[in-house]
Amino acid sequence: MPVSTIIAPMDLRAQTLEWRLKSEKIGFVPTMGALHAGHVSLIEAAKKKADRVVVSIFVNPLQFGPKEDFGSYPRMLAADIEKLDAAGVDALFAPIAADMYPEGFQTSLTNNAINNILDGRSRPGHFDGVLTVVSKLFNLVQPDFAFFGKKDYQQLAVITNMVRDLAFPLEIIGCPTARDPDGLAMSSRNLRLTPEERTLAPHIYKGLRLIADAHAAGEKDHAQLIDIFRAHLSQVKDFRLDYIEIRAQDRLMDFDKVVDRAAVALVAAHLGSVRLIDNLEFGAQ
Ligand code: AMP
Repeated sequence: MPVSTIIAPMDLRAQTLEWRLKSEKIGFVPTMGALHAGHVSLIEAAKKKADRVVVSIFVNPLQFGPKEDFGSYPRMLAADIEKLDAAGVDALFAPIAADMYPEGFQTSLTNNAINNILDGRSRPGHFDGVLTVVSKLFNLVQPDFAFFGKKDYQQLAVITNMVRDLAFPLEIIGCPTARDPDGLAMSSRNLRLTPEERTLAPHIYKGLRLIADAHAAGEKDHAQLIDIFRAHLSQVKDFRLDYIEIRAQDRLMDFDKVVDRAAVALVAAHLGSVRLIDNLEFGAQ
């Protein structure tokens, strides 16, 4: 069966109601399109766990800052639909902005703890936009499970918290980051790298690996571990580092001096006109 493309929220409700009446479990994968193998890995995870899989494609204006790449974000719906067909997705929900944000829309969600660190600090309002759109999508799709990539580690954390804090009746499932063979985390934004930038981009992951390897070899000093990454990335002049931080996997708490719990190194860096993010978990799980 080819994927059925649904634009109107009312039609989506009718379809998901039909499934729910048959007691079929619904898995949901929200995306912004320009689909790649990372998205497909979420779809595969959803197919394992649920009877029906809904993917949404919506480039959400609320989560982009005024100087960010909303206008140039890649959009390729026809190619995306082919990928969804091949992956065996049941329904694509591709709403229009006027349905997501009708005139008079004035509600927003926020996270009061980890909203102001990492990407939250670099991209003011970003996670409010993410939480607002994701909660609306959850209300429209009413899934049993929703799948998010660890590629966007802080996003997964704020959404997991929202679902717990506000008792959304669904389970959030975090999925591993899919990478190209050279280690670069797959991302729709990679399409906008020049060929030369593309050859440099894997240095981000290499730097993260250096941190994890040094930690495994006994280096537990927070500042030293950060320096290892900075020294590596500074060799490649084209990068403009936004942040490199090491935080506890648990609630993204800061480390004082010693990295002695399950940790995650998170990085954001600009390469040409593209902002790349990546992260790597390390230490005791
Ligand atoms: P996006 O279309 O970039 O908003 O991403 C949609 C979903 O796919 C989010 O849950 C992302 O974390 C996830 N995702 C994006 N890239 C990857 C990747 N390389 N590996 C796994 N999940 C990913």
